[in-house]
Order: sequence, then structure tokens, then C-alpha cells
Amino acid sequence: MPFRVPLSSPDIEPADIEMVNRVLETPYLSIGPMIEQFEREWARYTGTHFAAGVSSGTAGLHLAVIAAGVGPGDEVITTPFSFVASSNVMLYQQATPIFVDIDAGTMNIDPNRVEDKIKERRALGKRVKAILPVHVFGQPCDMDALCDIASRYELKIIEDACEAMGAEFKGRRVGTFGHAAVFAFYPNKQMTTGEGGVLVTNDESWDRLFRSLRNQGRDDSGTWLRHIRLGYNYRLDEMSAALGLAQVRRLDRLIEKRARVADGYTRRMAHVPGVQTPYLAPETTRMSWFVYVIRFTPAVDRNAVLDALQAEGIPARPYFAPIHLQPFYRDLFGYREGSFPITEGVAQTTLALPFHSKLGDSDMDCVVETLSKVLAARKHSR
Ligand SMILES: *Cc1c(COP(=O)(O)O)cnc(C)c1O
Repeated sequence: MPFRVPLSSPDIEPADIEMVNRVLETPYLSIGPMIEQFEREWARYTGTHFAAGVSSGTAGLHLAVIAAGVGPGDEVITTPFSFVASSNVMLYQQATPIFVDIDAGTMNIDPNRVEDKIKERRALGKRVKAILPVHVFGQPCDMDALCDIASRYELKIIEDACEAMGAEFKGRRVGTFGHAAVFAFYPNKQMTTGEGGVLVTNDESWDRLFRSLRNQGRDDSGTWLRHIRLGYNYRLDEMSAALGLAQVRRLDRLIEKRARVADGYTRRMAHVPGVQTPYLAPETTRMSWFVYVIRFTPAVDRNAVLDALQAEGIPARPYFAPIHLQPFYRDLFGYREGSFPITEGVAQTTLALPFHSKLGDSDMDCVVETLSKVLAARKHSR
């Protein structure tokens, strides 16, 4: 059956198309005026001194880890409940991601376990260089606790804010807490550039390093075939930057539209037995909804509900599969079921519903009615 509602969708308006078309009428398809303008407006939006556009969120995380001085044998504290990229970037540097289990409510890294883990690794003689927290699904991590730990142990914080553009912790924007932060613009995110990402920092030397690394290790003299370090081609092209510029100018509206959809779901789901709607911490003064993830009570067989929804034409996704249980992480590090029980418990009982800015009332009715029907049918069949 074709899906009755798309799982995700970019929000593209004629003004966005116009911006991209304008680029195509110029000779500047890369390294032109659009990326500069986009970076200026992104830095202003986030509230940082600097922003550097890159070709993906993953590329941005990689460069931030390099800037933090993470190299072979080093360790970085992070969460196993995330998209695989937040941990892979350590492997790119021959460093090791050290996982810390999550808080069952926010599904973000649990700061109470972070300090114990740092002490444990140091006692083993390991070099912990940084903490890489992920603001999962658009809800900020407990940045008070993490910043306190980072300053006491002299660690850098790199925020993976790829799912949390515009979110606020106690009134302060994510992306302004760490030494650097990364946002991403894949088409299912709150705003898109197709592929793309951006690195923000208040440290001018880090910003200069990002610009060199993304551009094949060139220095800022602009000499085309002079390379002063090992770099990459992580540039953001001008079409993508133009789309980003058009989208960031209405990002607050895009975030509001998603919040309206989230509220619509939560209202409709309030009396569906077996379903818990997303938990928001009191410190989350602004949620930036990336996905809408419900949790089932233990009696519900999540996988069976997922299959039944698909059969009814409603797409849904388990979100996330724990990183430590990915086949190559098991092979590399010997992780098994039970290594991070809270992460695994959350991963087994959650489901992301169709969610995007243009989801209408009738779409939400359709999703929630189908979900209720599926849950009721399973209850009676047992
Ligand atoms: C989207 C995302 C990224 C970056 O993804 P790209 O596809 O490389 O832009 C990184 N971390 C998290 C948690 C994400 O959701």
C-alpha cells in the first residue's frame, strides 16, 4: 500500500526556489557570496561570533573533533543514543568514543554518569579530551551540569546540535554552550540545504581552522595551490547556501509550524492507552521539534505495532537504533545487549511518527486513529 502520509518532508516555498535559481544565473556555484551571507545570518541566528558552512553535519562534527585536538588513542565522552555520525567522527581520528548511558526522560546523555566515567577512564591512564553531547530530537541536554564537568576536568565540549536548531536551555540557545557546535540541514531536519551543515564557535582561531580544513587545508591568504595542513573538501556549494539563506530567514516560523504539529499530536494522543507522549524537561524553555517520538508502555509490542502501521499505510520508524549495537561497533569494541540498558530500553519502546511542518489536522487524525485501532486490535487478539 502506498503511504497515506509522508514520514518527513522539506518545507520549500517559491522564495527558496527563486534564491537557488538566482545562483544558477551567475558563474559562482561554489565559494561565492551566498555562503558568506548565509554564515553571517546563521551566526546572528545562533548568537555566536562565527559560523562556517560545511557539506554536511557529519563533516562539521569531524572538523570540530579535529579542532579539539582529538587524535589517535584519545577518547571522547558521548551518547550511544544518537545518529551514528556523532560517534563515527571519533573513529575518523583513530580516537575512541566512550559511551555514557542516557537519562530515561529526556533521552539525552546523563550528566550524573559522565563524571564517573571520566574518573574511571583517567584512573586507567586514558586521555579523555572532550565531551560530545547530542541534543536528541531537538531537546537540549543539561548544559549546566555538562559545562561544569567540562570546566573542572578541562575538557572541550562539542555540541551536536544537528537536531536542535533554535532550541533553548534555560532561555539560552543551543550552540552557544560548547567550544563549538554543529547544525545539520539534511532534508528531514527543521530546515534544509539539501546536504549541508554549519559549525559555530566564538573562538576565532577555531573558525579559521574550520575554514582551512574544509577547503583542502589552504591558508587564509587564498593562494589556490598552497596547502599548509591535511584538509578535506567539506565545502558547502552556493546553491545549498542560497537555500539555507532563504530558509534561515524563516526558521522561527518553520520551528513554530512543527511545534503546532507536535501539540496536535500530543492533544490527540492524550487518551490513547499504551502511549506516552514526549517528555519535556522544565529547563527546555524552547523545544525545536525534529521528530515526534512516542513511547509505548511495556505491555505493547512495538515492532508488531510498527508492522501493523506500515500495513495500514502509515510510515513510522524506530528512532534510534543504539550506536553500540551497530554491527561494526560490536565487532570493534565487543558491545553486547545489556551494555547500555537505558538506551536499549528506550530504543526498543519508542517510535517516530510521520512528522513535518506541513502535516495537517486530517493527516494527524489519520495517524492517531490508525494507531488507536492497531493498539486496540492487538489488545483484543491477546
Ligand atoms: C542529522 C544528524 C547529523 C548529521 O547528519 P548529516 O547527514 O551528515 O548532515 C549528526 N548528528 C545527528 C544527531 C543528526 O541527527
